[in-house]
Amino acid sequence: GKVMIETTAKVQAFIGQSHIPFYSNGAWVTGSTGKSMTVENPADKSRLATISEALASDAEQAIEGAHAAFSSWQETSPAERAALLRKLADLCERDAEELSQLEALDVGKPVENARGFDVPFGIECLRYFADLCEKEEFETPLTLDGMKQARKVRLPYGVVGFIFPWNFPLTLCQWGIAPALAAGNTVVVKPSEVTPLSTLYLAKLAEEAGFPAGVINVLPGEGPEVGSVFTQHPKVRFVSFTGSSRVGRLIGEACGANLKPVKLELGGKGASILCDDANISAAAAGLAGAITLNTGQVCCTATRWIVHESVASEFIEQVKAELDKVLIKAGMNEDSQMGPLVSERQLNTVNGYIQQGQEQGAEIVYGGQPLSDAERSGYYVCPTLLMGSEENICFREEVFGPVAYITTFKDDADALRQVNSLDYGLANSVWTTNNDRAISIAKKMVSGNSWVNAHNVFAYGLPYGACSASGMGGGVNSRETMLDYTRNLSIAEP
Ligand code: NAD
Repeated sequence: GKVMIETTAKVQAFIGQSHIPFYSNGAWVTGSTGKSMTVENPADKSRLATISEALASDAEQAIEGAHAAFSSWQETSPAERAALLRKLADLCERDAEELSQLEALDVGKPVENARGFDVPFGIECLRYFADLCEKEEFETPLTLDGMKQARKVRLPYGVVGFIFPWNFPLTLCQWGIAPALAAGNTVVVKPSEVTPLSTLYLAKLAEEAGFPAGVINVLPGEGPEVGSVFTQHPKVRFVSFTGSSRVGRLIGEACGANLKPVKLELGGKGASILCDDANISAAAAGLAGAITLNTGQVCCTATRWIVHESVASEFIEQVKAELDKVLIKAGMNEDSQMGPLVSERQLNTVNGYIQQGQEQGAEIVYGGQPLSDAERSGYYVCPTLLMGSEENICFREEVFGPVAYITTFKDDADALRQVNSLDYGLANSVWTTNNDRAISIAKKMVSGNSWVNAHNVFAYGLPYGACSASGMGGGVNSRETMLDYTRNLSIAEP
């Protein structure tokens, strides 16, 4: 097989710094207390980098800077903002290999996946919102009876505080900040303390692109320490959170108490209905891919496989054969198809769920045992399929690993009941060769996204949102997202 790739000189220089400072108000800052955090390589548990840790006081300073920058940033034209977003996209393209390697090293994901999806899709996001803001009518004159003049204006909020998780650090950050910046807001970003590297590198590129000081700020630190400043500080006018439903609820409560608008993109427990008339081999390949993608650490992925009883045994045989083929290796191997989990904590969580699932009576259909290859000194786990009743914890709770839970059904009504029996509402899919049946089922699965004969489908212009315990606030990736980061002002003279 192919060998482990070498890190580029730019990556070595970036992670080789004694401390990677954070980026606040146009300056690279070591922090008031000089505290640092170690970033770990999940493939071998080695120290990957050391970063300066931002504390609450650092967040307050960054917010002041972002607030000051807003006064001139809000006056820029959409064309000026678009030009900067495009310049940032070009620099991400120039350093695509660096960004891909940082994602592979820090998250553990296969570098080929970062090269093929995370990095190019994030670049496309920057360009998409650059184009959109140029086309948008932020100010519309109205002709109304009895009015001498009237107009409706869409204005940016001001400083937006962003909090991101560790599974797609770069792409999620771009999904978040591109529409907010395009609409004329300034941003303070708290990446996950587990995976801060690509976001800090993005800040370097933003500086090089020429974003004015204070428009983009990146402060890695502990969630409650930095994140609570976002929800409390009066100069943060909007909070955008991507992460678990547990923390999302805390953020929503705090924003509610302060009457602060909030966007929440939270956890999921995606279901996939496999009908008796489905293309079984396509479904087996697609669903094996869905749980191994990013080592299953994908909020919207298919983790409950609800299979028609007449095709269950054929499907299970095929999906096992698909999982047998998956090359599990450190992400820096070019032929890796699945890397380790992101951290020891995540490994313990996933193993704990598998164990509890078994204790509650689920049968292990595939995997289940630890991977004990001597070469694998990192946080590896075997893809695992469990099967059993709907009461099982592995059917009901988000595991966030390469784990799926299989149940069977007799008729579509029963399948839909199973899909909709949880409070999550992020994404589901249906596999059938009958399109009328597909669309009918797609409309009845309660969530933000229903995919047909595929799982994990994204495109700019296709809103990616959620309902129920999976989030609120309109989602991402469409024109509406950019407008979500604006408030309405009506101007009128009778
Ligand atoms: P998490 O909720 O533990 O952490 C997310 C972020 O919140 C981190 O930056 C963390 O430091 C911060 N945080 C933690 N406690 C906080 C607090 N009390 N106040 C403020 N901030 C706090 O989630 P995670 O483990 O990093 O990520 C996995 C979760 O993210 C999964 O549930 C997954 O489904 C979800 N997710 C959702 C989407 C989506 O678009 N809906 C996308 C990716 C991940």
